[in-house]
Amino acid sequence: MYRQFLLILILFVCTLVLGGQWVWNETKDELISQQETHIEKLSQYITSELDKFSHIPELISKDKELINALLTPNNSAQIEITNRYLDHVNEVVSAADTYLLDSYGTTIAASNWFLERSFIGKNFAFRPYFKDAIQGRESEYFALGLTSGLRGYYYGFPVVYAAEIIGVVVVKMELSAIESTWQQSQGAFIATDDNNIIFMSSEPSWLFKSLTNLPEDTLTQIRQSRQYLNADIEPLNATGDLTVSPSLLNLKDNNTNGEFLTLVERFPRAKLNLRSLVSTKHLYWSMINFAVIVALIFGVLSLLLLLARHRHLKHQQIDRIQAEAKQKLEFQVLERTAELQVEVRQRTEAEQQLIKTQGELIQAAKLALLGELSTSISHELNNPLAAIRSYADNGARYLIKGNSEQASENFSKITQLTERMANISQQLRSFAKKSDNTDLTYIALDPVLFSTKALLNPQLKSLNINLIEAAPSSYSVLANPIQLEQVLVNLLTNAMQEIKGLEKPKLTISLENSSDGWLFIHIDDNGAGVEEQKIARLFEPFFTTKDNGLGLGLSISRQIIDSFYGHLQYARSPLGGARFTISLLTAKD
Ligand code: ADP
Repeated sequence: MYRQFLLILILFVCTLVLGGQWVWNETKDELISQQETHIEKLSQYITSELDKFSHIPELISKDKELINALLTPNNSAQIEITNRYLDHVNEVVSAADTYLLDSYGTTIAASNWFLERSFIGKNFAFRPYFKDAIQGRESEYFALGLTSGLRGYYYGFPVVYAAEIIGVVVVKMELSAIESTWQQSQGAFIATDDNNIIFMSSEPSWLFKSLTNLPEDTLTQIRQSRQYLNADIEPLNATGDLTVSPSLLNLKDNNTNGEFLTLVERFPRAKLNLRSLVSTKHLYWSMINFAVIVALIFGVLSLLLLLARHRHLKHQQIDRIQAEAKQKLEFQVLERTAELQVEVRQRTEAEQQLIKTQGELIQAAKLALLGELSTSISHELNNPLAAIRSYADNGARYLIKGNSEQASENFSKITQLTERMANISQQLRSFAKKSDNTDLTYIALDPVLFSTKALLNPQLKSLNINLIEAAPSSYSVLANPIQLEQVLVNLLTNAMQEIKGLEKPKLTISLENSSDGWLFIHIDDNGAGVEEQKIARLFEPFFTTKDNGLGLGLSISRQIIDSFYGHLQYARSPLGGARFTISLLTAKD
């Protein structure tokens, strides 16, 4: 992060330095080229303005009005003619003043003869334009007018008569007319003489100031020439090379203090230097603008970088929080999974324990049932035993008597009886067999009903109850045969106990088939049935109305039937007593 900011800072400084240099040079070049165009235009204008009057004195120097006036300066009529003539010329060429000097430099005729500030009678012998012209040289000169105090440009030309210079004609032009066109949006123009004194300027406060510090004797000379009359020539204290163009100049006085980019154009004819000056503030402003723009761009860049950094950090933070949350969640899941595994194991164990206990309970109930049946069964076994004994005794006697036929008949009866006993014990064994809860399949119902009857037969007989069975059928039901037999024995035993001793005990097993795949096995008796208020508790474990009852038979029976996905329900029997209905799923043939 800090490295990136340092990089941006270095880049910023480099851009500022290199770009600043480039901007400085570009702006400077642009300013120079602008000033070049301006100064070029201005110099053309000045040249054309100066040219406008340059030939006028020469042109009129030959005129008789001038020569005559010089030849007869005391002829007032001639002087007036000349005055009017000069006024006319002055007006035609739009000059400031036009006048005629005699060989001593005294004005003898002037275009402004009628004005108060008339030049007539004034002597200009000290003016260089006279000095040159009287020597026969064409002359141009600028100075402050003696009478007008205005800045003027003077054109002098000798008036020659008979190869002799008899006077000088002068045309004066107002310089302020030229200056008025100098105003420009950027910078200023100045025109300086050979002493670097400003006599034309778009900046009025610079007028008659010298760019450099002039030595005292030069100042005295200028004062004596009266070129600038009595104007105080104050220095602008320019530092920099005045001869080079373009160059940088520093100006400093009471009003001005600054650096300027200057261009110089020389007019050798008028000994005049034209300079354009543009404050370097423009350059500095461009630099400041550039620096501000660069700073803004880099500022925005830094902001963007900060923003990106902030967003990156935020993402990182979110990622970290998410990762932590994920880790925590995974840990919790692992923890919970371990807990659940323990729980599942415990439950499985408990379930297995329950199944085992249930199995044991069922077995115990069955054994209890067997106990109940034991009296009648032992009675059932004792009878054939007694018969076998008497058959055996008689058989032995028959053998002694030699009645082998009869004896053999007895033995075959004994065999039959033992077979019957074996059958009974077989029934008992298979009933007592421990059943497997998972052994659930579609089984034929008839054999189960048959073995139930066989098992209960001794008791039915001893109680003198006639069980009316259902007619043989071919139903198959979803059940475990041994457990279904246990339920049937239990229900029938309960019923037998209820109806024993009745005058006409009735006990029936009937089947009913429903259209939706159920087979109902009804066990009806004509006992007292179950009292209304006890029906709700009938299938509860340990609910019994008997003195020696356990109250487990019905509850276990219902559990067994439930495990066959069937139902065991109580209802009032059409016989008057109780009806227990076993509903089992039956297979479709
Ligand atoms: P137990 O036979 O040991 O009492 P059961 O669960 O087999 O236990 O029977 C519970 C009770 O249900 C019996 O005590 C009896 O009151 C009632 N019961 C069972 N079968 C009949 C029935 N056929 N007629 C009337 N009451 C019955």
